[in-house]
Amino acid sequence: MQLLGRRLARRSHCGATEPLRHCYLVGVNTVDCRRHPGEAVPALPRPPFRSELGERIQREICARCWQDWLQHQTLLINHYALDPRKLESRNFLYGQIGAVLFGEGEVAEIDTSKRGTIAAPGG
Ligand SMILES: [Zn+2]
Repeated sequence: MQLLGRRLARRSHCGATEPLRHCYLVGVNTVDCRRHPGEAVPALPRPPFRSELGERIQREICARCWQDWLQHQTLLINHYALDPRKLESRNFLYGQIGAVLFGEGEVAEIDTSKRGTIAAPGG
């Protein structure tokens, strides 16, 4: 069960108990990233997009993991020949954010042996 909007505060190395706060040790906002629990790591300066999901990413995912996701997203776009202008493609990517970053859902596989079979842009 998800506890949305009410998160148990945990102490970080700088003693702050808010999920997102300024850390004086590293000089930026930090977050308890879901992918490295217990470590206060630099947060994204702002949500990556304007939605509940974007705000959740800023609260729960660190800047470094977001960069990892962006690289992975590029692979997905190429592999599945996605067009981010299309709602269907965006929904697929949002689903993959849930699967890859939050562990909610099935992670789509990228079969690198199929490289070269991807549709050309505009084709
Ligand atoms: Zn992280």
